[in-house]
Parts: sequence; structure tokens; C-alpha cells
Amino acid sequence: MRSDSLGFDLTDEQRLIALSVRDFAQARLAPGAAARDRDGTFPLEFIPELAGLGLLAMKVPVEEGGAGADNVSYALAMQAVATACASTTVILASSNLASKILSDYGTAAQKERWLVPYAAGRLGPASFALSEPGAGSDAAALRATAILDGNHYVLDGSKMWITSGAHAGFHIVFAKSDPAAGSRGIDCFVVERGTPGLTVGKEEEKMGQRASGTVALYFDRCRIPRENRIGPERGGYGIALSALGGGRVGIAALCLGIGEAALEEGRRYVHERAVFGKPLADFQNTQFVFADCRMDLDAAWLLMLRAARVLDKKERGASESSMAKLFASEALGRVVDRMVQVHGGYGYSKEYAVERHYRDARVTRIYEGTSEIQRLVIARDVLG
Ligand SMILES: Cc1cc2nc3c(=O)[nH]c(=O)nc-3n(C[C@H](O)[C@H](O)[C@H](O)COP(=O)(O)OP(=O)(O)OC[C@H]3O[C@@H](n4cnc5c(N)ncnc54)[C@H](O)[C@@H]3O)c2cc1C
Repeated sequence: MRSDSLGFDLTDEQRLIALSVRDFAQARLAPGAAARDRDGTFPLEFIPELAGLGLLAMKVPVEEGGAGADNVSYALAMQAVATACASTTVILASSNLASKILSDYGTAAQKERWLVPYAAGRLGPASFALSEPGAGSDAAALRATAILDGNHYVLDGSKMWITSGAHAGFHIVFAKSDPAAGSRGIDCFVVERGTPGLTVGKEEEKMGQRASGTVALYFDRCRIPRENRIGPERGGYGIALSALGGGRVGIAALCLGIGEAALEEGRRYVHERAVFGKPLADFQNTQFVFADCRMDLDAAWLLMLRAARVLDKKERGASESSMAKLFASEALGRVVDRMVQVHGGYGYSKEYAVERHYRDARVTRIYEGTSEIQRLVIARDVLG
């Protein structure tokens, strides 16, 4: 969290959330982050505690079991978690996408059945399953089908890159009930863990964020009750787009958390490491690097806060969210690269946390919409 001197007054509640989540993350998540990354261990043991802090359903109203937090608090909390563990943050980001969809579009019965026990930590994390092997940026090209058969939908097809997919208590799945209708033929469903016809693929061996449990999901004549459809019939595409608009603020926050952690590693190192008879920090070249990093992260922070505030005012905010995510992820790329550089050879070693931050950073320019897709969203707003 940066101070009010950046021009944004945070409320006492927002400040308190940021500080308490940061304390939790540093105490509980930071110590094992490197080992979980090395072994690809999903942080399942922390889910009850994360739920206890309201972090699985932050933007869900209290009456529905959530934390009732605003978008600014959500962003500050995600940033705080990411200073300790990027994998846990992306798990929370997709879980919050799923819970927000249930809250915004679910019926009272659906919320009672899934949202309330999930927010209390009884169902594990949740997943958001939109991408497929052949459809990522072009989500409307998805090929999974959900054909109505009496009181059931029959799901067939596959999803790819699904964060938390092996551990989620339920998945928010997008599939076409009218394949000929393109984006207008997409529906949104809850598919519970263990539903016959759903199988979970093996975990992807990833470059970074290695503890986030990324898997494929396969649907083979998977029958789900009609009551599991979320929102209006054929309204799935709109649900996915609006959820991602809000979610991108969370990814900007994740970038800021990784960036702050990398900067802190670098700051410590350049004071300790002496070359040519003086600390690295005494070289003007080093000082300029840190000035550029600070500027990058502060600019990203301001864009993130602006996007969160636009969403809190219930304005559309797609362009602001895209700018925040795009700028923060690209700024993060510059920051982690510079911080590896100031470490010299040690920055290339797994002995130093900056190596993990460097790997964790790269995917932020890819998921929840690539940098190119963010530019398309922004350009549409500018050019009409
Ligand atoms: C670690 C990880 C976790 C993920 N978690 C999830 C998850 O939980 N749920 C989920 O649904 N998905 C998830 N994803 C999927 C992610 O959202 C997609 O990978 C992403 O949207 C890009 O899609 P793609 O991989 O199919 O790339 P493609 O869409 O094939 O893009 C390839 C390249 O072409 C560019 N490109 C595409 N279209 C255009 C265009 N119109 N103009 C210019 N350039 C273009 C892209 O920017 C990119 O550089 C995850 C991915 C990763 C790597």
C-alpha cells in the first residue's frame, strides 16, 4: 500500500483491510512460498484461513456470506497477498471471479446452495472456466456445448488453463447451448466437483505461479440439472465479460504486489552488495534504476485505484480496468527485469527470491486478457 500522498485518501476500513491482509500474508503465506513454487504445491491448507478473512468472496454482500468489501479494498487486499505469494493471489482472483458471478447473477436458492458454504471455506476454492484449447482471446469461439435434455443440460468439450481446477468445490463453466448462435449462444453454469462426466487433467508444468494448480477440465456427457444455469438463458458471454472487467483490477493488484516484493529484495541487496569498494546503492546507475521502478509502480498503483473507484461508482470501467491491468503488468515486467539485473548472477539463481518474482510476473501479460486484448478494449473506447 502506498500512502495518501499519492492523491488518494483511503478510508479507515480500506486501510485496515490492507494492513491486516498484509500481516496475515507475511506471517502465513510468505514463509512457504518458495517451497510451494518449487514443488508445485497448491496452498489448500490455507483456504479456511483465507475464507475466514473474507478473501474468497470479498465483493459479495455480507448477507450472502461475503466480506461486503468495495473494489478498492479488494485491490489492496490482492496486492497485499501478492507481496507474499503470487500463486495464492491468482487462486483468490479466480475464486473471487466465481463468487462475484454467483452473487450478481445467482438466484436465492443458488446462493444458499453454493455461495454461503463456499464463502465460509467449506467448499475449497472455486474456478472460472472459460478458456479452451482453441479459444482464449477469442472466447466467443469456445466449442464446449451444453445441450438441454429434459431437466438437464448435457455438457461436452474441454476447458484449458483452469486455475484451481483440481481443488475447486465448484466450477463456473461457460458452454454453448446454441452452437450456431456464436457469442449469443453461450450459457453459464455451476458444475460441482465430482459430477459424473467431469474429469480433471494433469497439472500444467508452468514457468511461474507454479502453485496455482492449473489444469484442463474434460466434460463427457456430463449431466447437470437445469437449476445449475446461472443468469438469463444465453446470457453467458455478457456474464463472462463483465466479470473479467472487474477481475482485471485484481490482476493489476497482483502485479503491484509482486513488484513491491521484487523492489524490496533489490533494495536490500544493493545496500549489502559492495563492488569496486562501495555498496551498489551508491552508484548513480543503481539509483536511477530504483527511481524508474518506483515511478512505474506508483503509476500502476494510481491506475489501479482509479479503475477500482470507477467500478465502485457502478460505472462501466472496462477501459479503466484494461489500462490498469495492461500498465501494471508491463510495468511489472520492467521492474522484475531490473531487479534481476541489479542482483547480477545471483538474480539468476533460485537461491534469491527475485528469480521467482521474475517468473511469476510473466504470465500477468497473458491471462485475464493478453496485453494485446487490453489494447483493443482501450482503443475501442478511444476511437469508438
Ligand atoms: C497460468 C494461466 C492461468 C490461467 N487461468 C485461467 C482460468 O482460471 N480460467 C480461464 O478461463 N482461463 C485461464 N487462462 C487462460 C488465459 O486467459 C488465456 O491463455 C489468454 O486469454 C490467452 O488465450 P490463448 O492462450 O488462447 O492465446 P491466443 O488467444 O491464441 O493468443 C495468442 C497471441 O495472439 C494475440 N492475439 C489474439 N487475438 C488478437 C487480436 N485480435 N489482435 C491482436 N493480437 C491478438 C494474443 O495477444 C497472443 O499474443 C490461464 C492462462 C494461464 C497461462
